[in-house]
Amino acid sequence: MKPVTFVRPADTRAASAAAAATGACVHAGGTTLVDLMRLEVMTPTTVVDLGRLPLAAIERRGDGLEIGAMARNADVANHALVVERYPLLAQAIAAGASQQIRNMATVGGNLLQRTRCPYFRDLGVACNKRTPGAGCSAQGGFTRSHAVLGTSASCIATHPSDMCVALVALDAIVATRSGDRTRAIPIGELHTVPGDHPEIEHVLEPGELITHVELPASPFAAHARYVKVRDRAAFAFALASAGVGLDLADGRIRGARIALGGVATKPWRALEAEQLLVGQPPSRAGFERAAAAALAGAKPVRDNAFKVELARRTVVRALELAWGAS
Ligand code: SF4
Repeated sequence: MKPVTFVRPADTRAASAAAAATGACVHAGGTTLVDLMRLEVMTPTTVVDLGRLPLAAIERRGDGLEIGAMARNADVANHALVVERYPLLAQAIAAGASQQIRNMATVGGNLLQRTRCPYFRDLGVACNKRTPGAGCSAQGGFTRSHAVLGTSASCIATHPSDMCVALVALDAIVATRSGDRTRAIPIGELHTVPGDHPEIEHVLEPGELITHVELPASPFAAHARYVKVRDRAAFAFALASAGVGLDLADGRIRGARIALGGVATKPWRALEAEQLLVGQPPSRAGFERAAAAALAGAKPVRDNAFKVELARRTVVRALELAWGAS
């Protein structure tokens, strides 16, 4: 591991200034960063630790909820207001990683976590995300865990987060600060698809820190479900996951949310699939039509064609459980 300068700013303005410097990198919970530094996939000259910033609160804001960027994943998943009003988020976080990692990982870090593509973590092979223009070793390699949605010729890496799938379904707003400037970014606009520049993973600028996440009031609490399919029952990334919510009234679907994980290059919202459900009575046939629409744009490669059908079935299962989960 190469020597680094470690700084612990006392306020957000100082942290933003330190993080904007060339070679600097932000440390929140450290559950991804430390791994990548040990592997020398990330080699910052300065690590800006956010541990002293007062950004861990989870508080009601009007009809919604505000979650600080440094709130620990475990604290969010177990918070009474999250469990009661945003069970989809609680379920998604609880499905991720292990209890030890959830105790350390933060909301801000989870939002910006890096891919688990094994070629990205192997300095001995080419990776466009690690070294722009170097090539993509996954394509032509072993691609069972890779994405089928949002891919490009440059990169097919899967976004690994469970939490982000729920936040996308819940229309979260990501609040940031850079010096005196603040921004409110709809989460659907935070992450970018790889296109020709897989090294760019989000729209944040150097030194722009996530301060908190805002959740609007949700009509989906009574009928929400996160379903994750993986190789092991715990401590494994999703092969496919679905975060869904149904707003039911008078035997019909008044509103629907469908988001996918484990199959796309960013947390994936299936807007057209949602619209197919609105106004319809809930039914298995309707859920299957929506699931087919959610995967209509899938482009599997050699080893991951199974994910298309797996994701369809995961969406249907999540919708069925949400429908029955009153
Ligand atoms: Fe790198 Fe993306 Fe290719 Fe993986 S899929 S090797 S992250 S460019």
